[in-house]
Amino acid sequence: RPVVGVLALQGDVREHAAMVERAGARALPVRRAGELSEVDGLVLPGGESTTMSRLLESFELLEPLQERIAAGLPAFGSCAGMILLARQALDGRPDQRQLGGLDVVVRRNAFGRQVDSFEADLDFTGIEGGPVHAVFIRAPWVEKAGDGVEVLASVPEIPGSDDVAARIVAVRQGAVLATSFHPELTGDERVHRLFVDLVRQA
Ligand code: GLN
Repeated sequence: RPVVGVLALQGDVREHAAMVERAGARALPVRRAGELSEVDGLVLPGGESTTMSRLLESFELLEPLQERIAAGLPAFGSCAGMILLARQALDGRPDQRQLGGLDVVVRRNAFGRQVDSFEADLDFTGIEGGPVHAVFIRAPWVEKAGDGVEVLASVPEIPGSDDVAARIVAVRQGAVLATSFHPELTGDERVHRLFVDLVRQA
C-alpha cells in the first residue's frame, strides 16, 4: 500500500486520513519535515490558507515541502490546500506563501460574495459512477489555469446569483490534484481514490 501523508497542522485531518485508508493507501499524519520523507503522496486539507502558510513556516515545513513538490511529490489540496498549491492567490494576505505545483491563479473566498457555503453535484472528469456531491465552504475558485492544467470539474453557475460564468473547481497538473470543495465530508471516497491512483502511477 502506498503511504499518503495528511498535513496535520489544521483542518479535517482525521476525515482525510479515513478517506485515504478507504481508498486503499496507508494514511500518515505529517507535522515534521522528517515525516515528509516517509510519504509517497500528501493531502493538504482545508482550513485557513493564511494560517496554514504561517504554520508551515513555524513548523519549518514550508521549504522542505516546496522542494518535494517541485521534485514531483504527488499532492492533493482541498479548499485552503488548493490555495496553497496554486502559483498565485488573489485576495490573499501579503505574507501568504505558496507551495507551487499548480500553474493556476486562484481567488480566495471567491463564492463568498454571493454565498458563503453551498453544495452541488458535479460531473468530474476521470470519476465514473455518477456526479460527485461537492460541499463548498468559503471556497476559492480557479480564475486562470495554465496550458499544462487539466480542468476536471466546474460549477456551471453560482447558486443564488446572476453570475452565469462557469467556475473551475477541480484541476490536475501531473500528479498534483486540487478541489475547491471538501470531498472528505461526504462519505464518497472516489476523489481520494483518484489521488491514490496518481500516487501509485508516480
Ligand atoms: N477561505 C479559506 C481560505 O481562504 C478556505 C476555506 C476552506 O478551506 N474551507 O483559506
